[in-house]
Amino acid sequence: MNKENFINELKKLNISITEEQIRMLDIYADFLIEYNKHTNLTSLTELNEIYLKHFYDSLTIVKAIDFTKVNTLLDVGTGAGFPGMVLKILFPNIEVTLLDSNNKKIIFLQELSSKLQLSNINFYHGRAEEHCLKYREHYDIVTARAVSNLIVLSELCLPLTKIGGYFIPLKGANTSEIQEATNAIKKLGGTIEEIIKFSLPYENSQRNIIKIKKIANTLSIYPRRYDKIIKYPLK
Ligand code: SAH
Repeated sequence: MNKENFINELKKLNISITEEQIRMLDIYADFLIEYNKHTNLTSLTELNEIYLKHFYDSLTIVKAIDFTKVNTLLDVGTGAGFPGMVLKILFPNIEVTLLDSNNKKIIFLQELSSKLQLSNINFYHGRAEEHCLKYREHYDIVTARAVSNLIVLSELCLPLTKIGGYFIPLKGANTSEIQEATNAIKKLGGTIEEIIKFSLPYENSQRNIIKIKKIANTLSIYPRRYDKIIKYPLK
């Protein structure tokens, strides 16, 4: 997907992108490619792939929610900033927090943020489980792409989501994972409101965006320690 195709596909998502935002994404892509030569951040090295599988894929989340009305967003396991950093560039109104347990990725994102002169953006090097100690039920929206299976991810992310807010994982083709997690989501105070199914343009791989509403407080026993979350997944 070249830049022209990208802009066209955004129109179909009802996103109008400014010249300034296009310039910022150019800087992002160039910096990612350069940085990736010495520090492993992504397996994608081609510009067109970055536009499709990182930038465009991140922005498909607008199918789930109107981001012009969001105040706070946390991206758990953001990696090189997907989807959180891309959302910050397109929706500067949001106070975005990027969290990752790998400090190399956080340092990359901080350097990128100063290049782009972003404001109202926070960075945390740490684990989602620990983030709960200070930011329990704090965020309007919690996102995560390619971090873990849905049961594990729900225990990490739903405690951080405000009541009335949404946890919105970006998932691939596997829908059995959703069935298996339904009860765990309920236990954690969430409910699946919508599953948005589509395929990525140009390469046609399947995607599922799961819109999970936080409807009740999460019991303080969650999240458990990571080894417990993995060993005894919620049923
Ligand atoms: N969301 C990005 C990165 C996916 S890779 C993308 O879609 O490209 C998964 C990332 O999650 C890694 O950077 C890893 O360090 C981070 N991660 C895994 N478990 C985590 C946890 N419990 N808390 C915080 N970050 C975590």
